[in-house]
Amino acid sequence: METYKIYPICTGIFTHAEKSNFAYQKDAGVKLKAPILCYLVQGNGHNILVDTGGSDSEWAEKYHHPVYQTEDMKPENAIGKFGLKPEDIDIIINTHLHWDHSFNNHLFPNAKIYAQKKEVEFAMAPVPTQYTYYESPQIGMKPQWTQCLDRFEIIDGDYSLMDGIEIIFAPGHTPGFQAVCVNTTDGPFLIASDSTGIIEAWEDNQTQGLPTPSGIHVNLIEYYQTIRKLYPTFDKYHILPGHDPKALEHDCYPYK
Ligand SMILES: [Zn+2]
Repeated sequence: METYKIYPICTGIFTHAEKSNFAYQKDAGVKLKAPILCYLVQGNGHNILVDTGGSDSEWAEKYHHPVYQTEDMKPENAIGKFGLKPEDIDIIINTHLHWDHSFNNHLFPNAKIYAQKKEVEFAMAPVPTQYTYYESPQIGMKPQWTQCLDRFEIIDGDYSLMDGIEIIFAPGHTPGFQAVCVNTTDGPFLIASDSTGIIEAWEDNQTQGLPTPSGIHVNLIEYYQTIRKLYPTFDKYHILPGHDPKALEHDCYPYK
């Protein structure tokens, strides 16, 4: 099977993120510095971005939470470290369409963009608690990803993207959430993104020996189905989270 390398990219840092948003009912009131991560997957002749990060600091402060971001962290600049220009990205996979994962899709002009049907539908009419996460029309906003709808490849359920890369339907955090399983020389890694915002939530087995869901979710029944489907396959070393500084301790996965 084809193998790939996975590079974590920090596109900005939430300076006061609520920990219990990443691990349901855990340590309420504790604030974290939480990177907004996306992942570059390279191999088999492809440059794939899993998520495209969030906005600049000014926008984030106005509509969401304070974010620290340098010019170098902007995803269109951050890929320069790998010798890439925005045009070189040929595939984007949006794990979901929250603003901090899909804000910059339009900056990569040649990328085909993979998202779930249920996610696209929900993003345009979410439940009220998620209006701001989606920057949805109900609060008078226009989600940034709608700028390049013509490049969307809408999928419905599990999907084999190519040899060694599987998109896994993983609802819970959002109705159309998808994780990405990437084969490497050290076995499969799961880009879990916000289904496991921080590794501690995956390690935490106080709830019936299972990981803790994100505090932000739309359906806990589906979320636990997702956890039960994925938990037996991936130990914490093979999980790549959405907002944990630990992901940045290594420049590349696998590192062993
Ligand atoms: Zn999210």
